[in-house]
Amino acid sequence: MVKNLARYVGVFNEYNVYVRFSGYPKIALVYPSTYQASITNLFTHIAYFYLLEKSDALIDRFTLDNPDRGSITGRKLREFDLILASANYELDLLYLAKLLADSGVEVLAEKRDMKPLVIVGGLAAMSNPEPFLDLADASFIGDGEILLQKLVRYLDILPKDPRGFLDSLGEGIYTGEERVKKIFIEDLNNSIHPTVEIRSRKIEPVFGEGFYVEISRGCRWLCKFCLESYVMYPYRCRSLETVRNLVDEGLKHVDRRRVVIYSSSPFDHPGIRDLLKYLVENEIDFSLPSIRWDTVRLDDLDMISKSSQRTLTLAPETMSSSLGCSIGKCFDPTAFSELATAALRRGFNIKLYIVVGFPSERDEDLQKTLRHLKKLSTLSREFGRRLTVNINPLIPKPHTPLQDSSLLTEKEYLKRVKLFEVELGRSTITHLQWLYAFAQSLIALGSRPIGRLFALIASRRLSRRDITELASTLKVDIKFPLRQRTREERPWNRVIFPLDHIIDRISI
Ligand code: SF4
Repeated sequence: MVKNLARYVGVFNEYNVYVRFSGYPKIALVYPSTYQASITNLFTHIAYFYLLEKSDALIDRFTLDNPDRGSITGRKLREFDLILASANYELDLLYLAKLLADSGVEVLAEKRDMKPLVIVGGLAAMSNPEPFLDLADASFIGDGEILLQKLVRYLDILPKDPRGFLDSLGEGIYTGEERVKKIFIEDLNNSIHPTVEIRSRKIEPVFGEGFYVEISRGCRWLCKFCLESYVMYPYRCRSLETVRNLVDEGLKHVDRRRVVIYSSSPFDHPGIRDLLKYLVENEIDFSLPSIRWDTVRLDDLDMISKSSQRTLTLAPETMSSSLGCSIGKCFDPTAFSELATAALRRGFNIKLYIVVGFPSERDEDLQKTLRHLKKLSTLSREFGRRLTVNINPLIPKPHTPLQDSSLLTEKEYLKRVKLFEVELGRSTITHLQWLYAFAQSLIALGSRPIGRLFALIASRRLSRRDITELASTLKVDIKFPLRQRTREERPWNRVIFPLDHIIDRISI
């Protein structure tokens, strides 16, 4: 297959793609976000190459930048038999509805009669599929590679009998009728990872040009608010040997000798230091987009500074030791200050993520965080480096120990944001707009009618007035994210994840 790769085709002037203008059945990979986000997501590449290689299907891709025409074939989305949609973020529900509407596909599953059949997967859709099922016919609860293997087995029956096709997929398929357990790959070394990744002459992926490699999945720290660690559990690593082989092969198909390392916490990988050494010795540039700060040693900074990466993105969430420990992410001020100083001294800018509104947060926790940030801000200035602090409210997520917690009201949230802005200066602070956090909470924690609400909002715009107006017309409660909820108010309790049986015991 690799030798038949086409160059500079379609609306995005893509290379590393295949040109197959006909095939049976027709499968659309839908990423309800920008084209750039779609090629930054590894599953886009996994699904595209796997389905092309293992089936005779016609495969094309759609994003918000090309909702009506496939990026390679230019075919319309409504001509396809199957839509595989990724929804890693809650608002992808809204954008999926918009994309379907813009491409002339009936948005509501009940009116579409499986033509085309829509299956949605990804972090947000897996964790709480209920609101997604107003749009999709099914959600897949598990690692997407398993779904791909199942799909190719039964594709022949899909166009004539989509219901029979869906039933054949078996385990992991959630349609809202029966309880479903998450299924997952046990050994990443034996799972699919493309060595060729779709690239475009017009648009680079979010983290820049290079080969993107996933070295681990899940996260062993299980911070109490973290969706990814609970939903992607168990934590699994690819071996150093597998990763090195992928890198060697993958670099043959990109324009820059650069590797972007995907992992929630790369320094937990037992082979990471050997991998970085290997990259440096072979003059391969690299980037680590996310790092758990307390896993990084000072000599790791020396290694990272040999790459072109100039910003360290760290997410302490809080700089209060007691609050940190209560959310499962203990904060050691001395160790953090040592690491941050060493990073600034080596020329790194620092970007921090802080979360406000944890259930056990008190004023003194915020004050402690502010005190540490102010010191860090002064230090950054002394070193001539840039510090940015991104503030987010806690958005409670299903299947995590904080799943029943409440979202801050807008007033309480903005009060905290203001505090940070006053103490640190507006140029240092960015923050998530409360409306977006509220919309995310509605989808993360909501039931089926929330899906209907967002399907209708898709044809308008995301505004407070439209949400309130439509909720009142549909008689949908939208106040629930703002209060503590009970165990009975978990619409996601029919999808079972491996740690569900213990999370109530470790809630705050
Ligand atoms: S370290 Fe980061 S990715 Fe891992 S559980 Fe904590 S917040 Fe999640």
